[in-house]
Amino acid sequence: LIVLDKVNKWFGPLHVLNDVSLTVAKGEVVVVIGPSGSGKSTLCRSINRLEPINDGTITFDGQALPAEGRPLARLRSEVGMVFQSFNLFAHKTILQNVMLGPLKVRKEKPAVVRDRAMSLLDRVGIGNQAEKYPAQLSGGQQQRVAIARALAMQPKAMLFDEPTSALDPEMVGEVLEVMTSLAKEGMTMVVVTHEMGFARHAANRVVFMADGQLVESAPPAEFFANPKSDRAKDFLSKIL
Ligand code: ATP
Ligand code: MG
Repeated sequence: LIVLDKVNKWFGPLHVLNDVSLTVAKGEVVVVIGPSGSGKSTLCRSINRLEPINDGTITFDGQALPAEGRPLARLRSEVGMVFQSFNLFAHKTILQNVMLGPLKVRKEKPAVVRDRAMSLLDRVGIGNQAEKYPAQLSGGQQQRVAIARALAMQPKAMLFDEPTSALDPEMVGEVLEVMTSLAKEGMTMVVVTHEMGFARHAANRVVFMADGQLVESAPPAEFFANPKSDRAKDFLSKIL
C-alpha cells in the first residue's frame, strides 16, 4: 500500500533520510523505532507530504505521491495522521472536531457525518463526551478524539507519530488499546513509538532507524530477541 524507494531528504547539510526504502503492505502494522533525531518523524511526515523529499519516490496505493493540488488533498484524506500533540480545535466540541474534515474537505452530508462521528466516538470509548470541549477532557481522551477524527475521513492507512509520548503514564494504556484494536481490525498502520509492549504485541514488523538510515527491519520477536546491528543492540540496551 505504501512504498518508499530510495527516499532521500536533507535539511540543509543534514542528511535526515538516507536512501530509505520501505514497503508497507495492506493491513500491515509497522512500528518505527530509533534514537532521537534519527528521522522517524520526518519519515512519517514525508509519507503524506507534510515534508517534501529531495530524491526517491513514495507511492501510495499504486500512485506516485502528488506534490500539490487536488490529488494531494485526496491523498491526505486517505492517510490519517495522529501526532504527539492532539491539535484539536479548542473552540469546537469533540463532536464538531470529528465532523470537521468530512464536512469541509469531503463535503459529505451532515447527517451521515454525524452518525459516523458518533459511532467512532463510541468506538474509542468517549461517546458520552461528544458535546464537551477539548479542555474538559484528559490527555488520553483528547488523543482518542484525535484518532476518531482521523478515522472519520475513512483513511486507507494511519500514521502515528509518538501518540502517547505527551500523556501521563496512566493514560497511555487507553490510547494503545484503541490502536491495538485498529491493528486487529486490519488497518494499515505506521507507528513511531517508544512503547515496546505495543511493538511486541501489535506490530507485524519493527523497523529500526539510525542517522536517517533504515538499519533493520524484522518481525518483533526476531528483532527483540536477536537484533543484528550494533546500533540496534545499543539502542535496545538503553530502553529495555
Ligand atoms: P525524535 O525521536 O526526537 O522525535 P526523530 O527520529 O523523529 O526524533 P526527526 O524529527 O525526523 O527525528 O528529525 C531528524 C533530524 O532532522 C534531526 O536532526 C532534526 O533536528 C532535523 N530536523 C527536523 N525537522 C527539521 C527542520 N524543519 N529543519 C531543520 N532540521 C530539522
Ligand atoms: Mg519525532
